[in-house]
Amino acid sequence: MFNSKILKVMPYVLGALIAVLIIVMIIVKTGGKQESDATELKSENTVSGDTVSESTASESTLSDDNEADETKQSSGQVAALFSDTSGMPDELPEPDDGAVSQELPDKGTPDTGTTEPAPVDDGAAEGDSSEADDMTTPEPTPTPTPIPVQIEFEAKDDYIETKNDVNLRIGPSTDTDVFANLKTGKRLKRTGYNEKWTRIVYDGTECYIYTPLVTGVFDEPTGDGNAAGSASTGTATLTQGVGTPNGHIICIDPGHQTNGNNEKEPLGPGSSEMKAKVSSGTSGNTTGHPEYKLNLTVSLKLRDELVARGYTVVMTRETNDVNISNAERAKIAADAGAQAFIRIHANSATDTGVNGVETICMTNENEFNAELYSSSRKLSDSVLNHVVSSTGAKKRYVWETDTMTGINWAEGPVTILEMGYMSNKDEEEKLLDDNYQNKIVLGIADGIDEFFK
Ligand SMILES: [Zn+2]
Repeated sequence: MFNSKILKVMPYVLGALIAVLIIVMIIVKTGGKQESDATELKSENTVSGDTVSESTASESTLSDDNEADETKQSSGQVAALFSDTSGMPDELPEPDDGAVSQELPDKGTPDTGTTEPAPVDDGAAEGDSSEADDMTTPEPTPTPTPIPVQIEFEAKDDYIETKNDVNLRIGPSTDTDVFANLKTGKRLKRTGYNEKWTRIVYDGTECYIYTPLVTGVFDEPTGDGNAAGSASTGTATLTQGVGTPNGHIICIDPGHQTNGNNEKEPLGPGSSEMKAKVSSGTSGNTTGHPEYKLNLTVSLKLRDELVARGYTVVMTRETNDVNISNAERAKIAADAGAQAFIRIHANSATDTGVNGVETICMTNENEFNAELYSSSRKLSDSVLNHVVSSTGAKKRYVWETDTMTGINWAEGPVTILEMGYMSNKDEEEKLLDDNYQNKIVLGIADGIDEFFK
């Protein structure tokens, strides 16, 4: 009785055992398949990783792959287990032979390729892109990077100026892209220094200049556009944002420069008549103080005064050692959309008795920009009158002439202010006086205010 009962049950027990064995085999097979897929992936990745070359690099890709594959595998296994277990409960309660034998081929087919590789393939597809990321992000250990090496910078919080035309680069290496190209004499905020590279801030962006191309150390931005959060145009420096903006753009051109440039340029657009690009100017009869320096001193004061009054100011230069032709200066004003182009000069005459203030604009028959005559004449009158009244200097006149390159190339109202005669002893002394310069500046600013009324 007992035996026969066992015998009766035996087939079921055997059936169940066989079913369990089959399931175990399926699971084992599944795992094996994934492993081979994983190794395929690995070799693929190493191949792509070869572009990085170097044994260390491929090593790192390998180790990375291992990590990546591990996660992939485990997720693949999880997926496989899920699909298996979802099948298992169905299988177990059904000890039917037929059911078991039917399930075998069912399990077998997906095994060979369709369902199973799917999660692994997904992983591979994701892996292809995410691994590229993985390779850069969690990879602090191997550092065979051929690109810029980390450079130590001494922290700085001051200003420097560009010594030449310089490239601002996005990294401390000539292999990096050029962010901007700046002309000589551009003042910039410095945040870091080392012998080779200087880190500066330009237009809100940290850039690098080759240190030998940097000069001077300043505490002040000197109203430099970048320090004040504005942009620059060519050689010009744009300053704004101190006073309440009044919407007017002024270009100030401090006449001359340290060294004149006798190369020639057309007297006006399309002109065959050529004139020296820029002369070196005059100098004080008594002191020998050069006009270009005086012009810059007054121009910088004027810039600050105008900015305080809400004007946006573009400077053709803010240092003396530049090389900007008169036509180029006019172009800077035009490019900036200046509504008044104020050119600051001082005069001289062989007759040392001559003194006084005058302004200059084009004639109403100018062949290049006669249409600017009436506005330029108005600007010239206004500036002349106000400078005379603020300084008490002798009023000479508005000289109308078409011989000035920087006027002929102008595309907006323009005037040259001849502040006084450096050949006259008394006037030279005044011109070099700080208070008198301030009076000139107030006069010019008042004249500009009136021009826009
Ligand atoms: Zn001059």
